Amino acid sequence: MNKDTLPKELLIALMDHLQDAVFAIRDGHFIFVNKQLTTLFGYPEDELLNRPITDFIYDADREMVMERYRARQRGEKVTSVYDFRINTGDGEVRSVRMRAGILRHANQVISVGSLQDITDRIDTMSALAESRADIQSILNNMPDVFYRTDMNGTITLISPSCEEALGYTAEEMQGQPMARFYCNPEDRVRVLDELRDNDGKAHQVEACMQHRNGSQRWISTNAYIRFGADHQPIGVEGIARDITKIKEREERLAELGRIDELTGLLNRRSFLEGAENQLQIAHRYGRELSVIMIDLDWFKSINDRYGHEAGDQALVYFADACREVFRKTDILGRMGGEEFAILVPETGRTPAREMVNRLQQRLKEQPFRYHEHEIPFTLSAGLASLDSKKQTLSNLLSLADKLLYEAKRQGRDQVVTQTQPDPQTETA
Ligand code: GH3
Ligand code: MG
Ligand code: MG
Repeated sequence: MNKDTLPKELLIALMDHLQDAVFAIRDGHFIFVNKQLTTLFGYPEDELLNRPITDFIYDADREMVMERYRARQRGEKVTSVYDFRINTGDGEVRSVRMRAGILRHANQVISVGSLQDITDRIDTMSALAESRADIQSILNNMPDVFYRTDMNGTITLISPSCEEALGYTAEEMQGQPMARFYCNPEDRVRVLDELRDNDGKAHQVEACMQHRNGSQRWISTNAYIRFGADHQPIGVEGIARDITKIKEREERLAELGRIDELTGLLNRRSFLEGAENQLQIAHRYGRELSVIMIDLDWFKSINDRYGHEAGDQALVYFADACREVFRKTDILGRMGGEEFAILVPETGRTPAREMVNRLQQRLKEQPFRYHEHEIPFTLSAGLASLDSKKQTLSNLLSLADKLLYEAKRQGRDQVVTQTQPDPQTETA
């Protein structure tokens, strides 16, 4: 038996075993449908064969399908595979992909083809597109920066908010190594170390990043390692937040806690902290160190004669004079009221006394001025220098205090340094 002599029943049985719906159309009517097509359309065979095909095409697609049908009939070249929608007997709309062709038989033009139900695929794709659109909308609107890198640290995805944080658009950052945007490339290594040491998660790792405009931004990152279907790591995903403002506020607060607001010198607490550090260093390396306690003379009279504001300005003037005479490495503190303490590291008694003398001279040569008034004032000081390993900061400070009291007692405007066993007075 060859192909031409196959019985019609065998061909129909074969058609019914195909997965696709198969049809033949003449004059806009089905003249053959297989079993799959009746199932797909939801109509029995006789209803399909007796109604025009336009009845089954979804409204919005009807004109397009029929135009192509007519063009194919006229012998024009028409795309042979395309998608459209049908109305089924169950009242549903289903999407089909058609492969169609023309058969010329006994002076008749017959349209033949097959249909594949692609409704589920289309639904999945539009659900996917919708969820992609949702994710994109979340990414576009989130204030934090979401990012992904591959295992080489190259950015594969980053949300548009990166532009606000670092000045580069997402397109500019994608494809670049993440390390490029850190102030120090080693900082990124800290994020990776945390990921390795903490079970693939990094929690609020802070690092400095470089903004396009050259400024430095503080970024806090939560990140985790992404694993592929084969459980192998495929990259890092994370959320980064710009915490520059918070950092700056923290630093300002810390600064306020350390600094005396009026004079800008260290307050008592941070003077003691800094002084303790320096004393430890001096002990450890056997270096010299001196401490000077200062109280301004007859200060109350400035307030009484010129007012409290004048007194305040006199304190600011005095702090400026200290900053001028002492070195950056010396520790200058306002201990309260018009009492000041100065710690001079690596400096013994004699050079330290010379420094106080220079300060006294400065007060005399360029006295404090308040509006049209020249208001000269002097200081009394006690100077204690380190002479034994056992001396603690509080030993030194109370000794300097005692020597200061001595300077007051002996008439003010002088520096008293300790000598063994009795304090010795020196006048500027
Ligand atoms: P002396 O130390 O030489 O004995 O005399 P004094 O007048 O300086 O006396 P004392 O040290 O006891 O008084 C310090 C005065 O300094 C008391 C207060 O009126 C003034 N004072 C302390 N803190 C401030 C301040 O922040 N601003 C102003 N304007 N005055 C202050
Ligand atoms: Mg005082
Ligand atoms: Mg005083």
